Amino acid sequence: MSGILVFALHYDGAYNKNSLGGVSEAARRASELGTEAHAVVIGDVSDELAASLGNYGVTKVFRAKDVPEGLAQPVVDVMAKVMEDEGHDYALFGGGLLGFEIGAGLAARLNAGVTMEVTNVNVEDGKLTAERPIHGDSSISTSRYKERGIIIGRLNAFEAAEPSDATAEVVDVDVELSDFSTKAKMVQRGEARGEDIDIEGADILVAGGRGLGKPEGFKLCEDLAQALGGAVAATRAVVDAGWYPYAAQIGQTGKTVAPKLYLAAGISGAIQHKVGMQSSENIVAINKDSNAPIFEFSDLGIVGDLNKIVPKLTEAVKAKKGS
Ligand SMILES: Cc1cc2nc3c(=O)[nH]c(=O)nc-3n(C[C@H](O)[C@H](O)[C@H](O)COP(=O)(O)OP(=O)(O)OC[C@H]3O[C@@H](n4cnc5c(N)ncnc54)[C@H](O)[C@@H]3O)c2cc1C
Repeated sequence: MSGILVFALHYDGAYNKNSLGGVSEAARRASELGTEAHAVVIGDVSDELAASLGNYGVTKVFRAKDVPEGLAQPVVDVMAKVMEDEGHDYALFGGGLLGFEIGAGLAARLNAGVTMEVTNVNVEDGKLTAERPIHGDSSISTSRYKERGIIIGRLNAFEAAEPSDATAEVVDVDVELSDFSTKAKMVQRGEARGEDIDIEGADILVAGGRGLGKPEGFKLCEDLAQALGGAVAATRAVVDAGWYPYAAQIGQTGKTVAPKLYLAAGISGAIQHKVGMQSSENIVAINKDSNAPIFEFSDLGIVGDLNKIVPKLTEAVKAKKGS
């Protein structure tokens, strides 16, 4: 068959949002191509959890139970074998560092074309094409594939479908790992998170920049984020200055996010920051400079001193929530 193979990352008995977006996108495009999307899961995944990917549109899930989780090369071995055996034309990944690494390895192994940071997948003349923003997101380049194509999404670029009650067939696969794939071992799993909160999955982000004035200024963002039930993000300027952890950095050299609300306090709106947050549903900016570039792409702009506005906002949110 032709078809699309997608990798689904799980942790603690659940798939991450980004993977479910990738699985849903693979199913949507497979249906347009008139073919099927299948998923690969690695390690300790119950029958039920594996089959539940059918809720997002894949018809078959290949499970490699004995393969170590969290490392790229063993997954490359599994996906390369499944693609060769089953004849998939494309592999698709939701994005994230592991997806980048597996996708790149798979492209090299299969001599396939590869596109990273993809924000849109289309079907043209019975084949997939992938759109990727370039030049600081000011233009779009479109990739077409001569034979096989590996498509790696930008983090959270693909939306997870509304789950149905369909289930997928689960097929266990035995894969002999390459020698070099067994050289690295997972010693410990940890997650670098801003203040231990998953900023990529958060619906609300309160982001702070140099306008906070000093590291302690982040307390204002943390209080507001807590009141709103969101997480805290940061610009590179403050991360470089050591005011906040790198895990919270948004932008070209940080994370890409698309929350429902992105509230930017004391952030100028440099292009390198904008590319990481411009897909947010609602952007609210607080800046004392009415000419700050961030106002050009904000849905709501508040000109004023964040030291006065943010605490008042926090109080208002708490009062509204009755806490
Ligand atoms: C190759 C490269 C990669 C980069 N990658 C990234 C990246 O990934 N992410 C990123 O963020 N940046 C990145 N940058 C840096 C980027 O160009 C900007 O320098 C940075 O985003 C600026 O951060 P800022 O908005 O916090 O600071 P500033 O640009 O200094 O802005 C501070 C803002 O706060 C306002 N302000 C000051 N005091 C107050 C107050 N009391 N109340 C309200 N407003 C106030 C000011 O008016 C100003 O607009 C990169 C740069 C390069 C060259």
